[in-house]
Amino acid sequence: CGIVGGVAHHDVVPVLLQGLQRLEYRGYDSCGLAVHTASMNPASEEGLHRTRSTARVAQLQAQVREESLHAATGIAHTRWATHGAPSLYNAHPHFSFGPHPKEQQLPESAARIALVHNGIIENYEVLRRELEAKNYVFSSDTDTEVVVHLIDSVYNGDLFEALKEATARLHGAYALAVMHRDEPHRLVGARAGSPLVLGVVGGDSPAHYLASDAMALSGVTDKIVYLEEGDLVDLQAAKYWITDSQGRAFDEQQRPVQTVQ
Ligand code: GLU
Repeated sequence: CGIVGGVAHHDVVPVLLQGLQRLEYRGYDSCGLAVHTASMNPASEEGLHRTRSTARVAQLQAQVREESLHAATGIAHTRWATHGAPSLYNAHPHFSFGPHPKEQQLPESAARIALVHNGIIENYEVLRRELEAKNYVFSSDTDTEVVVHLIDSVYNGDLFEALKEATARLHGAYALAVMHRDEPHRLVGARAGSPLVLGVVGGDSPAHYLASDAMALSGVTDKIVYLEEGDLVDLQAAKYWITDSQGRAFDEQQRPVQTVQ
């Protein structure tokens, strides 16, 4: 049960994998990573791509190497199953392809949104029925998958707005990191009941990271903003915004950048 995400102008995949390794101590039954392949190579038409494993993070790392995944925007996860058995299809990241007929098999590259989640969505059954009625096709037994489809169902060109609208409907505990096919240089997140921090890298190769704890980012940055209950974050490589659940931005006094040891 850990999250790492990053958005930069350079490859973030090594940071995501190292972060997962630093979160291994929390325990997990499966792990996974998703990247936006167009974030580094604009010529790439592909969009979102993921790889998952029910083995150790070292195995995930080998898969990443084999597929030569490099990207400037990505999210990664270690899962401690609460809803749905530990298995590949229940492992995060979860994708939304938008509503489509059940019999229609879509390639992974058609995915619109990728999401990782730590915590428990209490009202997932109600949301699942509602989304299934809107022709969202579920491919896991997790509580998490409702969140990615819910965001898709309210998405109107702005991932942060969609996250704000969707999280208003969630009951339970969550730390979330989310990216969208049509917004390759953006990462958004939310924190309620599960830990999440923001890591800031300045200078001439700026980057922003999300992680379950500051330790996951050690060696990458010691500049950390501790997100608080109900906070939403909107990240690009060189800018970030932290807001409350209504979208009111916090200033640097309210959410200071702290230097950790
Ligand atoms: N409840 C989610 C699941 O079972 C997330 C578990 C976690 O925090 O890793 O997939």
